[in-house]
Amino acid sequence: MKNDDSPDGAATLDPADWEAFRALAHRMVDDMVENLASVRERPVWRPVPAETRARIAGPLPEDGEGADAAYEAFRRDVLAYPLGNGHPRFWGWVIGNGTPLGMLADMLSAGLNSPSTGYDQSAFLVENQVVTWLAELMGMPAGTSGLLVSGGSMANVIALTAARNAKAPFDVRRDGLQSRGGAARPELVFYGSTETHSWAIKAADLLGLGDASFRRIAVNAAYEIDVAALRAAIAADRAAGRRPFCAIGTAGTVNTGATDDLLALADLCAAEGLWFHVDGAFGAWAAAVPSLAPLVRGMERADSLAFDLHKWGYLPYELGCVLVRSGEDHARPFRVQSSYLKRAHRGPISEGLPYADLGPQLSRGFKALKVWMSFKAHGVSTYRRLVARNVAQARRLGALVEAHPSLELLAPVSLNVVCFRFVAPGLSGEELNEVNEEILLRIQESGLAVPSGTSLGGRFAIRVANTNYRSRDEDFDLLVKGVVETGEALLAERAAPAGQAARSST
Ligand SMILES: *Cc1c(COP(=O)(O)O)cnc(C)c1O
Repeated sequence: MKNDDSPDGAATLDPADWEAFRALAHRMVDDMVENLASVRERPVWRPVPAETRARIAGPLPEDGEGADAAYEAFRRDVLAYPLGNGHPRFWGWVIGNGTPLGMLADMLSAGLNSPSTGYDQSAFLVENQVVTWLAELMGMPAGTSGLLVSGGSMANVIALTAARNAKAPFDVRRDGLQSRGGAARPELVFYGSTETHSWAIKAADLLGLGDASFRRIAVNAAYEIDVAALRAAIAADRAAGRRPFCAIGTAGTVNTGATDDLLALADLCAAEGLWFHVDGAFGAWAAAVPSLAPLVRGMERADSLAFDLHKWGYLPYELGCVLVRSGEDHARPFRVQSSYLKRAHRGPISEGLPYADLGPQLSRGFKALKVWMSFKAHGVSTYRRLVARNVAQARRLGALVEAHPSLELLAPVSLNVVCFRFVAPGLSGEELNEVNEEILLRIQESGLAVPSGTSLGGRFAIRVANTNYRSRDEDFDLLVKGVVETGEALLAERAAPAGQAARSST
């Protein structure tokens, strides 16, 4: 089928030959399916070679080389050097696998190219349904307002914005945080534990509050917020004339997977008139699993909840969700009236643009399709089982670590995060940190596995965050073996005379 949709015979972005394009499209799908099916056989990660870096750079292409050539460049230079998070032994930071069906759903979504802001269109109906399903899955009441966003950071920022505008004793939309006409303004402050994710720092800045408004409350030995210390901080701030407006509880902290006592936080926020926000970037998923739901009890009382679908949820980037109990509170900071976006009585804009009123974005992609199709295809029961399995695997790894004389667990394993280190008699704290950081880098660079690192109370930890539906028990056994063998090799190098150590490490 020749393309004659190009009036001047040249400038178009459609293919010149639809049949050739179809063949290329089939090749892309075949290659990607093969790539996914064989992921276990490859190293988890490898560095990008210098010549690949140089080819990716290249000058601004004034003249095109065609889709086939561009695809070959993708295959050679992009596909070959991923971060590796599709691999069964990738457990670094908190990063999901992505799913084969999610990949195709993203293709379908891009093919439709529906701006999912509203309008009378199928995409809007699908997204409404997905938000309803997600609220139910997370235990929030029917009618909860929600928005799919790029990820947990954006979800949390939107929630904190709603909290600020709902609780400020002045009109933030109209006046901002400036003092107008000499009116005295109380200083707004919000609370989270010292383990709160760094999004809160960005949010404090974006919302014009400043980092000093973010009160970091100490944690207990299990890395959970000290609720008594929080209560005292609120009282002290009130006594000083400041205005506490929100407390953040974390379901699944990024460092150790700890979950704050959300029930106690819900009670405290209710008693103090504070907005209760839960950052459940990955830990919120515990609510979907009956055996884990007690860990996040109280989450269902949140005024707002932020969570990801690209960590647990396993779906391709980017995908997070914010749920806000009160639709009015959710829309207050974002609702605008523009004549050019006005809802009509009939026709394509008869549904209005409701999603433009729930976040900073106007135009937005159809992220909901991959959720809708995945839930329909796999059923949420599959997600419940996978999340439960990830937690069981983490606890099993924790037990392996505790049972091993050369390994030490550095934080309790309550969810899916395991922090541990290699230990040997006679090493100082500083030497242990050096050794463990080197073990981590060698394991990552070897392609065996990708955990990440963190520091807990000054102790360097090798950190496994398991949101990986491809991992098997033996993958964790390989990691334990790799860490111990690498640690022993390092000790041998350290014991050897300097010249010999240099030789054996080359
Ligand atoms: C990952 C994470 C975030 C940020 O989410 P993004 O999707 O990366 O923006 C926030 N909070 C916690 C606890 C996280 O683990």
